[in-house]
Amino acid sequence: MSKQIKAVSLISGGLDSLLSTKLMLEQGIHVEGINFFTGFCVEGHTHAIRKQKSDKQKRNNALWVAEQLGIKLHIIDVIEEYRDVLLNPKHGYGKNMNPCLDCKSFMVKKAKQWAEENDFDFIITGEVIGQRPMSQRKDTMPVVQAESGADDLLLRPLCAQHLPETKAEHEGWVDREKLLGFSGRTRKPQMALAKKYGFKDYATPAGGCCFLTDKQYSDKLVDMWQARGSREYQLDDLMMLKVGRHIRPNNRFKLIVAREEGEVKFLEGYRNQYFNLYPVSCNGPLALIDGEPTQDDLHLAARVLARYSQGREDDSVDVEINLNNGVMQKLSVAPFKNDEIDKSWLV
Ligand code: SF4
Repeated sequence: MSKQIKAVSLISGGLDSLLSTKLMLEQGIHVEGINFFTGFCVEGHTHAIRKQKSDKQKRNNALWVAEQLGIKLHIIDVIEEYRDVLLNPKHGYGKNMNPCLDCKSFMVKKAKQWAEENDFDFIITGEVIGQRPMSQRKDTMPVVQAESGADDLLLRPLCAQHLPETKAEHEGWVDREKLLGFSGRTRKPQMALAKKYGFKDYATPAGGCCFLTDKQYSDKLVDMWQARGSREYQLDDLMMLKVGRHIRPNNRFKLIVAREEGEVKFLEGYRNQYFNLYPVSCNGPLALIDGEPTQDDLHLAARVLARYSQGREDDSVDVEINLNNGVMQKLSVAPFKNDEIDKSWLV
């Protein structure tokens, strides 16, 4: 009996990895998926917090893709190892804080290790030549192969016809003729193929597979590092950057104000870790304080919060501040008027 050939597929949750995996399954390859959790993934739990885009399914798209394909998915936590990729990218950043080229090499390298440990034969990705400006260019695709150490074990089924033969083709594990020659930024060929396979309702992330491609998120991350004077971060910090309105009046502290009920509930889970405040004379949101505010800062924070409460037109709003060591302060403050909140405070 001939050996069953096995491939591990990097599954981001988008259409490309869905299709590239499908192509391999059609060629009789046993495929299992890997999804690396860096802490910045769009496929975290926070995208289910807000009501906006409520018409869209709240789901983990990587799991959904695996379910559509009927394959196993391994979700692997790489938060610690990913720090070095983010903080010291050899090839720098993309438009925002996304170190895509280093990130891709890192993920393929991890997939190669996993393949070796689990006796898999090769690795596939959903990359398409020319699709992304940093990691999926004709000149950078070989960089990923070289720096990950995967070399010819890495097959990109969607654009393989434009690339040199890999081991999987060479050994006759897959038929190169049935691999594709997609290229460029257009998504039309992928959409047509999805239609052919009957895939509907797949995710189409605009910028990429993680929050680091998002300008607002990247700005908040850089602001956090600058204010702390260090690029250290914890997973909770990363989660917090995805939630609430972030307002930094000075380097000593930042306010994170919930924008809706889902965010109030989420931030409530952090009340023991952060100073927190909420209006008590009227309805209004919960806010957390990140940093080390002075007494004047607490007063200012209460005025900002009052601006976002239902008492914003009142002369004064009572705000309770919980300082985490059982100490509670109650301040009566005049809500800031809209034009009194300095635009530069909004992160
Ligand atoms: S978008 Fe994010 S996860 Fe995807 S390659 Fe770029 S840095 Fe990595």
